[in-house]
Amino acid sequence: MARYTGPACRLCRREGQKLFLKGERCMSDKCSVARRPAAPGQHGANSKKLKEYGMQLREKQKARRYYGVLENQFKHYYEIAAKQEGITGENLLSLLERRFDNVVYRMGLAESRKEARQLVTHGHFSINGKKANVPSIIVKQGDVIALREGARSSEKFKGLMEAMESNNAPKWLEVDNSAVSAKVIALPKRDDIDFPFEEQLIVELYSK
Ligand code: SF4
Repeated sequence: MARYTGPACRLCRREGQKLFLKGERCMSDKCSVARRPAAPGQHGANSKKLKEYGMQLREKQKARRYYGVLENQFKHYYEIAAKQEGITGENLLSLLERRFDNVVYRMGLAESRKEARQLVTHGHFSINGKKANVPSIIVKQGDVIALREGARSSEKFKGLMEAMESNNAPKWLEVDNSAVSAKVIALPKRDDIDFPFEEQLIVELYSK
């Protein structure tokens, strides 16, 4: 399935919730969810109450869109999570949080996950000192993610590096502002993920 290229705000309106896909605009009163909370489309305002399957499907779509992951990739993460020890839904969220592009976003070096994905693809970052440009890499405990030397002098990154210094990174990342890097000091737990997912619904959907 191809990546969605339509308006990002439409996705939030479809889920009836802010998915924070557009950086600063999401915090402003220009946010479309705040201004037009109804689902998009002719019948958006008359959406029916969802049944069990509909709720499960919407929760999966919400998580997929929040992290910007394609359907097949998302299912693949679920399969890995199901094989791991512990609670499958929590394992799934932990894997999604540890995607390379999400880590760059959490470090404060991109305004949105979409932007983080682009910056990673353009080869601006390294993992453990080696250039890495695949946004779907799942980082491990002990990995160090850094902005590469060559990118640090660009105007774009100067602004982002300032934003990084005032960013509140999650506690599973140890950020070093002077090295423009972050070390994964623990695996993210459910409490570290502040978005109100109902991950059990996703597990129920895939367990059918
Ligand atoms: Fe979603 Fe951000 Fe658009 Fe609001 S501004 S609808 S949170 S993408």
